[in-house]
Amino acid sequence: MFKEINIYVIFITIILLLSLIALYSIEAMEYNLFLLLFSLVFIIHIVIVSLFIYNFNHREPKKNQELITLKTVEKYRREFFGNVSHELKTPIFNIQGYVETLINGALYDKSVNKKYLKRTSKSVDRLIYIIQDLETISQLESEELKLEMTEWNLKGVINEIIDQFEIKSEQKKIKFIHDKKSTNLKVIADKDKITQVLTNLISNSIKYGKKGGFIKIRCHQTKNKCIVSIKDNGIGISDKNIPRLFERFYRVDKSRSREQGGTGLGLAIVKHIVEAHGQEISVQSNVGKGTDFTFSINSVNYDS
Ligand code: ADP
Repeated sequence: MFKEINIYVIFITIILLLSLIALYSIEAMEYNLFLLLFSLVFIIHIVIVSLFIYNFNHREPKKNQELITLKTVEKYRREFFGNVSHELKTPIFNIQGYVETLINGALYDKSVNKKYLKRTSKSVDRLIYIIQDLETISQLESEELKLEMTEWNLKGVINEIIDQFEIKSEQKKIKFIHDKKSTNLKVIADKDKITQVLTNLISNSIKYGKKGGFIKIRCHQTKNKCIVSIKDNGIGISDKNIPRLFERFYRVDKSRSREQGGTGLGLAIVKHIVEAHGQEISVQSNVGKGTDFTFSINSVNYDS
């Protein structure tokens, strides 16, 4: 399109220029007014062409940028749908397999029927976890995300979460070390969403923690913020995996994560929530030694 306009503009300019030269070479007085008008038309034409070229040159990088962004979004979308269908496939095929086996006679075989039904139920649970996490991610990414900022006590919420994980932590003989003195403070944040952040981080510390190990939860108070730390002495994460850790569906060890019931969305959700609060999250880890996730949150006062 630009090429065609370009040729057209060059053609018009040459015609105008040649006409102008021809007119200047005719020295008759009656041509003076016409010559003046013609020169004016030529100048206006040159101004318009210059403006057009200027605009086009300045729009081009913007257009390229828009194109790059569109391509990135499209790639991101394709990857996301690919990941979602991949995640859903495994539990769906498992359910299909067990149901077919049961229908084809295993239902009356007492040695396997309960086992197959339990496995079917486990796959259904897995589907539910994936759908719930996907729902959370899409809510967080939609423009509708509204934070309900209230003042609440951090210690109380952490205690409730620890209680919820009692059975799971006991199964792995993991001990909670909750520094209640440091977490006994009022924070200003969306309580439900930060509860989700703490739940996901503590859940990961159990999943990837060491049998017989510990999970330390404490808070470091700065001027008007508190830095919450959730530290375990589990398997740890190598440096090369850390930059991609908060991406959706990214897992260091895929089979281990699935085995533990992970969806690969937990940390992406955590990051979204923390950043929606205008805060930061970071991670420090050593393979075989453990991991320490820290995030900031606005605090009101410190009453020890
Ligand atoms: P998942 O559902 O797989 O746990 P997450 O998004 O919560 O997904 O975590 C992404 C990956 O980060 C996990 O698969 C795991 O490899 C790694 N990870 C997260 N937390 C820890 C931790 N505390 N210790 C070691 N690895 C962790």
